[in-house]
Amino acid sequence: MKALIYLGPGKKAVEERPKPEIKTPTDAIVKIRKTTICGTDLHILKGDVATCQPGRVLGHEGTGVIDQVGSGVTAFKPGERVLISCISSCGKCEYCRKQTYSHCVSGGWVLGNKIDGTQAEFVRIPHADTSLYRIPDDADEEALVMLSDILPTGFECGVLNGKVQPGSTVAIVGSGPIGLAALLTARFYSPAEIIMVDLDDNRLETAKRFGATVVINSADGNAAKAIMKLTSGRGVDTAIEAVGLPATFELCEAIVAPGGTIANVGVHGVKVDLHLEHLWDRNITITTRLVDTASMPMLLETLRSRKLDPTLLITHRFTFGHILDAYDPLRARPTRARSR
Ligand SMILES: [Zn+2]
Ligand SMILES: [Zn+2]
Repeated sequence: MKALIYLGPGKKAVEERPKPEIKTPTDAIVKIRKTTICGTDLHILKGDVATCQPGRVLGHEGTGVIDQVGSGVTAFKPGERVLISCISSCGKCEYCRKQTYSHCVSGGWVLGNKIDGTQAEFVRIPHADTSLYRIPDDADEEALVMLSDILPTGFECGVLNGKVQPGSTVAIVGSGPIGLAALLTARFYSPAEIIMVDLDDNRLETAKRFGATVVINSADGNAAKAIMKLTSGRGVDTAIEAVGLPATFELCEAIVAPGGTIANVGVHGVKVDLHLEHLWDRNITITTRLVDTASMPMLLETLRSRKLDPTLLITHRFTFGHILDAYDPLRARPTRARSR
């Protein structure tokens, strides 16, 4: 089969690989139909992710058809269409029992990281019963790819952790796919304001179409001042950090209102200053999270009932033979490399 291989920092290639085989009875082999490229794949290609070694098949998102199942798989059979969670979970360990699937002792984020991933014709999915979701007959399979990682990440790490409430004020710093996913899912809760911040006017235009009430280009360095003015000096109830840079986290520290929450989503590669000299008495909360995909059943229902339209997030389409070209539009956007 053909697969996209990570060959070390800055290097990738499409290579011929043997089709994966069942290794443990709880595995399934899935024939991939749709996959996508994530900011995390770009992190790996930069050499930022030490757990991902050269030779690895990249990719942790996708949909497909069950090709084979191990003898221990009871929930799926060959021929069924499935959505792949970016997080593999055993369903039995201490973390899985608390729905913290991202820290599953024999799973977590392994696909396209510690084991071969989804940017290939076939993939082996461990703990198949608890890491795959059946695709309803009437579902748009392409839209569902956005549920493997992007939408649950924006929702769980940004919106849920950020405690977005009806009538509250939300700022989302970073208008990449994850920031936009946070924006789409923040709207479930009808906040009064959703302020989107980015350096790229095109991305901010998209954010407006997605329902941002205010957009701010932070290139002039005055975003904090503008947000404080907009909120009559109070700041925002929820500041979602969806970039992963010191400057964007420090912007969240500058704009969070007393009693508010900073919900970090970005992947940080370097240290960030925590300004306790300003924040120690402000009753704020700072949260971090790796997506658990515990919200997957709920997000699937919102998709089916058309409360959520993830197709808005899809801009480019490629056949698998052109997967190397698919990485190109991402290269032109350096900020995306930092977002998950
Ligand atoms: Zn991803
Ligand atoms: Zn587990």
